[in-house]
Amino acid sequence: MNILVINCGSSSLKYQLIDMKDETVMANGLVERIGIDGSRLKHQAYENDKVTIEVPMKDHKEALLQVLDALTHGEHGSIKSLDAINAVGHRVVHAGEKYSESVLIDDAVIAALEECIPLAPLHNPPNLTGIKAMKELLPNLPMVAVFDTAFHQSMTPDAYIYALPYEYYEKHGVRRYGFHGTSHRYVVQRAAEMLGKDVKDLKLVSCHLGNGASVAAVDGGKSVDTTMGFTPLEGLVMGTRCGDMDPAVATFLMENETLSIDELNNVMNKKSGVLGISGVSSDFRDIETAAGEGNARAQLAIDVFNRRVKKRIGAYAAVMGGVDGVIFTAGLGENSATNRKEICSGLAFMGIEIDDEKNNVRGKDAFISKDGCSVPVMVIPTNEELMIARDTQELVG
Ligand code: ADP
Repeated sequence: MNILVINCGSSSLKYQLIDMKDETVMANGLVERIGIDGSRLKHQAYENDKVTIEVPMKDHKEALLQVLDALTHGEHGSIKSLDAINAVGHRVVHAGEKYSESVLIDDAVIAALEECIPLAPLHNPPNLTGIKAMKELLPNLPMVAVFDTAFHQSMTPDAYIYALPYEYYEKHGVRRYGFHGTSHRYVVQRAAEMLGKDVKDLKLVSCHLGNGASVAAVDGGKSVDTTMGFTPLEGLVMGTRCGDMDPAVATFLMENETLSIDELNNVMNKKSGVLGISGVSSDFRDIETAAGEGNARAQLAIDVFNRRVKKRIGAYAAVMGGVDGVIFTAGLGENSATNRKEICSGLAFMGIEIDDEKNNVRGKDAFISKDGCSVPVMVIPTNEELMIARDTQELVG
């Protein structure tokens, strides 16, 4: 079975065609600047060189047409005709409380996701646009929606209720939802395989540290707590997002910097995080370079980031009554030995100790903890596309 995985953003579209026989990627690519001058598609079929196709694409339907064309192209395609695509898996950000698992898409699912738009006004509309465009282009193909929020629907109310008047939860659905669910679910399954244990018998802390960052406590394969909340703004320090702070800071800044709601949102989402602290960049590679050259604010950004991850590892061990493994994934988690070491420093009291030599690893499955310490620490590259394809295969079966 060949599955096309689609991830639609507001002006971009990522895709992978996966052969589920051996889970190989037959082709992947990225469309950028949809609806903007200079639209282009970067496409790569398995073992071929990358090609860039520059054509105007005024909307997601035109972008998908170009993707389907590239996939079946005589020279740089990987399938002869569209009949070789058996199903489509869509990444969808927010399913509110409606879905705790991936679902086959029908009109009722589309209606339910439209109802969730107020919860994810920037993300759900482009996700839905992609679903509708695909449905128009290939109406008979089964399609599955895989949600970022679904994995965290197993949290109990004591983990997801905010200490606000309860009516805001009832009226507006204001609660913790959590995100990065597909990534946390993937790495936890992989960790169980690496540990040679059933995931049901494991208490794991999963640290997804990319531009967006979140930690999840996963007990017996189920998410029991996570750092992101009502939106992906809560929790850890991120590239440009502030994460946790005293909520009173928001009203203070509105008053004393005369910021509008939009301006405040922009500050907290786009100008904060390690970018805001360091003033250097949102990218850790730039910040590490600056810190190495003696930039004190760059070093401070790294220290604040690491401390917050460390605190969550401790907190989630307490929530689960122990921990059997810690996982690092996503851009920073997979690549930065120094951050991993710093985050785990001082945790020997709970059985977590990093082995410097093993920690000298990038972007591949590896154990990085000292032999014999009681809590294995693992690096596991995330693969959300594969998880989406697996769910799609299971549902379409
Ligand atoms: P996104 O949330 O956009 O998917 P990624 O998971 O791709 O983010 O992570 C991107 C971030 O990972 C970069 O901004 C950078 O901070 C960090 N990163 C990537 N490679 C390295 C590296 N070699 N060393 C340190 N940090 C890295």
